[in-house]
Amino acid sequence: MITVKSAREIETMGRAGRIVAGVLDLVRSRAVPGVSTWELDRIAEEFIRSHEAATPSFKGLYGFPATLCTSINAEVVHGIPSKRRVLVDGDIVSVDVGVCVGGLHADSAVTATVGEVAPATHALLEATQRALAAGIAAARAGAHVGDIGYAVQQVAESAGYSVVRELVGHGIGAQFHEEPQVPNFGRPKHGARLMPGMTIAIEPMVNAGRPEVRTLGDRWTVVTQDGSLSAHFEHTVAITENGARILTAA
Ligand code: MG
Ligand code: MG
Repeated sequence: MITVKSAREIETMGRAGRIVAGVLDLVRSRAVPGVSTWELDRIAEEFIRSHEAATPSFKGLYGFPATLCTSINAEVVHGIPSKRRVLVDGDIVSVDVGVCVGGLHADSAVTATVGEVAPATHALLEATQRALAAGIAAARAGAHVGDIGYAVQQVAESAGYSVVRELVGHGIGAQFHEEPQVPNFGRPKHGARLMPGMTIAIEPMVNAGRPEVRTLGDRWTVVTQDGSLSAHFEHTVAITENGARILTAA
C-alpha cells in the first residue's frame, strides 16, 4: 500500500533527513586511507545518538548488524562494516544510512572517494550523481514511477554504464521500505502515479561494467558479477505540487 504523509510527518522526516545528511558529511570527511569501515560505523552511530530521540534505522532491520552499509569498490550495497576492512588510497566506498525520528525514517547514500581516485572512477561517480538528479527531477506529482527509472537509466546508460536491476529504490515513512518500489530503469508513463505527500527514496546503483550482481556468502554484501566498480547515491524526497523536495539535504 502506498501511504501519503501529512505535512507534519514530512517535517519530521526532514528532521531525520538532516541528521542523515550530517552523518554522511561526517563519514565522508573521515573516509581516508587507513580507516576501517567499523570505525566509520562507530562515528556514525555516535553522531546519530547525540541527537535527541534519533536512532539508526538499519541496526536490526532484517537482522542487519550495523548503523551504516559500507560497500567498497565492486561492492554495490549492503556491505557490513568491519575492523578488517581498511580503506586504501584509490578506493570508493558507498556509505548508506537511515535515521529514525518520531517513528519516521529518512534514507540517503553517497559514494565517497578515498585519497586519490582514477579519473575514470570520478566519471562513474559524477554520472551516478547526475542520474540521481535526473530521477529527482522526474519525480513530479502526476508523473509515474517509470518516469523516474527511465530518467535514471537514460543518464547512466548514455554515459556508458549499466544500472542494477535486482535492487531498487522504495517508498519510505513509518516503515523503512514501503510501496512503491522505485527501480532505476523503466518506461515513461508506467508504474504507480506520484501524488503529493508520497515520500520515496531514489537510489541509482550504477556499474562501470555489466549490470548483473550477486550476493556474497555473508548473505548481505552485493557485488558486481564482473568485478567492475559500482557507485550508489540516494536521497529521500517528498512529492509536492511543485516537484520533489529533498528531505536528506544538509
Ligand atoms: Mg539507503
Ligand atoms: Mg534506500
